[in-house]
Amino acid sequence: MIPSYVTAVTGRLRANGFDAYLAGGCVRDILMGRTPHDYDVATDALPDRVMSLFADHRTLLQGAAHGTVCVVSEGENIEITTYRSDGVYSDKRRPDTVTFSRTPEEDIARRDLTINAMMMDPDDGRIIDICGGREDLERGIIRSVGDPVERVEEDALRIMRALRFSSVLGFKIDKATSDALHDRKELLREIAVERIAEELTKLLTGKEPERVLCEYYDVLSVPIPEIAPCVGFDQKSRYHAYDVWTHIAKAVQASPPVKRVRLAMMLHDIEKPSYCNEYGGSRHFAGHDEASAVTAEKILTRLRFDKRTIADVTALVRYHELAPARTHAEMHCRLLYGKLGRELFCDLIDVAVADNVSKGAPNTRAGALIPLRDKVLEYVDNGGCTDISGLAINGNDVAALGIRGEDIGKALKYALDRVVSDEIEDRREPLLEAVASLKWR
Ligand code: ATP
Ligand code: MG
Repeated sequence: MIPSYVTAVTGRLRANGFDAYLAGGCVRDILMGRTPHDYDVATDALPDRVMSLFADHRTLLQGAAHGTVCVVSEGENIEITTYRSDGVYSDKRRPDTVTFSRTPEEDIARRDLTINAMMMDPDDGRIIDICGGREDLERGIIRSVGDPVERVEEDALRIMRALRFSSVLGFKIDKATSDALHDRKELLREIAVERIAEELTKLLTGKEPERVLCEYYDVLSVPIPEIAPCVGFDQKSRYHAYDVWTHIAKAVQASPPVKRVRLAMMLHDIEKPSYCNEYGGSRHFAGHDEASAVTAEKILTRLRFDKRTIADVTALVRYHELAPARTHAEMHCRLLYGKLGRELFCDLIDVAVADNVSKGAPNTRAGALIPLRDKVLEYVDNGGCTDISGLAINGNDVAALGIRGEDIGKALKYALDRVVSDEIEDRREPLLEAVASLKWR
């Protein structure tokens, strides 16, 4: 079951009299019947010794202080880490000193969660499990190794890791661990935003984000304070049975587990509380989509997401209020296709479906969205034009009619609107004729 590029490495360590165990995430994955995405090996050999033992391989010393050597074995990376116990964490993130240790037990004690704190003998499959990781794995429980308060005080990223694994694996968090996450949430301020963003993304694209978002909104409000006003915010609307945050959590859960889609779901209604108007006993949120897009961009920029992700998520939030029943829905969607491109347009439909099925109220939109998408895709696949560059006329043609300056762009936009609404065919003659006799001029 264990690939040969791994056993080649553990075999050589053992042949030279050293320990070699599989450790951490890969053991968890193997015991769950999943294929690990990487293998970590724990050993009592010191980093220098590991380097010399694998002198005939490509190796990379990943910070001698942390004792990790990366060996390229049969073309695959494998990390070999010397048993260690961590010293004091004065920056709440990295130990100031590490002490190499002699036994696997000491190394296990520095790991974060019981399910991540097992080792496996690569030859006979024997498991070293001194903190009940196997039982927690079978019962579906996230539990801190040792005292949870001390462990998150050492390294606050463990707060986000616990939430991430809870969502990804669909495991409940043990009471004492959960209490520590809530109590010590403020420590997240000391963690690099990039690391928080990475864990948040995994949490959102996991199996049970709804439960984690609902139970730990207070923790998530530390890096994203914009969440707090949404929690419990009554929408007083016949279209909505849930408060804003509950609706958001359900919408995340209902959407496909794609990074930009799930981020968009988390942020799509984030400005509803500040765009709330009440009349006739019900609440309305005109303008919340644009405002949420602006805020989404701010939040994602603050968390240092990459430019592409920020642009995509912002667009999905901006246009999430698709109304397929509207008279011009199809025309509107053709133009959105032109703006977003095929992939993001299809994601937008997924966003709108997830939004509409998560309102807890009778809803006619959700069912209409997929047929609407398919009609637009069919239009495009038949050569239908969705943006100005796809028109049978261009700026030069318009200029030749004596139209100048800004009016050229307006004329082309006018032509595009007539084409996507099927009023004029996308051919030169009818388009030039229409532009020449423009009514807006
Ligand atoms: P993934 O599937 O995301 O790789 P993983 O559990 O393997 O999950 P890694 O970040 O690769 O996560 O870490 C490998 C192992 O190192 C973990 O299983 C855990 O034992 C230990 N570890 C990682 N981060 C921490 C941390 N912040 N505190 C304590 N132990 C940690
Ligand atoms: Mg890993």
